[in-house]
Amino acid sequence: MTTTSTVVVRGNEAHLVDPAWHPDELDALADGLDARALRVVGGIATHAHHDHVLWHPRFGSAPRWASSRAAALALARRDDLRAALVRGEGSQDVGPRPWTPELLDAVGRVQPWPGAPRSLPGDPELVVHDAHAPGHAAVWLGGSRILVAGDMLSDVELPLPLEPDDLAAYLEGLDRLAPYVARADVVVPGHGRPSSDGTARLDADRRYLDALLAGRDPDDPRRANPGMAEVHAALLALVRARGA
Ligand SMILES: [Zn+2]
Repeated sequence: MTTTSTVVVRGNEAHLVDPAWHPDELDALADGLDARALRVVGGIATHAHHDHVLWHPRFGSAPRWASSRAAALALARRDDLRAALVRGEGSQDVGPRPWTPELLDAVGRVQPWPGAPRSLPGDPELVVHDAHAPGHAAVWLGGSRILVAGDMLSDVELPLPLEPDDLAAYLEGLDRLAPYVARADVVVPGHGRPSSDGTARLDADRRYLDALLAGRDPDDPRRANPGMAEVHAALLALVRARGA
């Protein structure tokens, strides 16, 4: 799934955005932090999906945040999130190491972002909207002009407006991101490759959704990627139901 984990560093402090995903990858991330002698001072989950609310005991006990809506959902869904991880939902496998009780216990333990500027590396600002998931937050690092986009602006995944099934909310979410994308030197999708041309990513998503809504067959290379034919079929059904 080409999942990204983001480590924002200032001096020997770091905060983590969506550390993920499989146990061996979380172990490797902890090794990488140790190798650079970084102390984790916070964590941000962009939304309440199972591959975005993870943690490792070796990251320590720093506070972890999400938007207030996503935090409430993550806490309410902890059992479901853990079950999805153990099942390997959305993934080819669950990796070579098991989900230990400690890793599972750390899933979803986020609190609402207090809103005031936090003294975290990169001075993150949450850009909250309801595209892809309720209370989804992109993380804007204004000093370095980086937008960590969560499950948006991907080069491998089509737009995923499936929670709720709401294309209008997704388009509004893209509009909410647009001024940040325009200023960003780099956008980092939750799945896919970082890009120095966020505007092209945003335009591709709008083009795809606009074509769907206009009843045209979208010409989008992401449709050939694993799992995306199913996504496209689901969105097509959504648009048809909307027009019925
Ligand atoms: Zn997601």
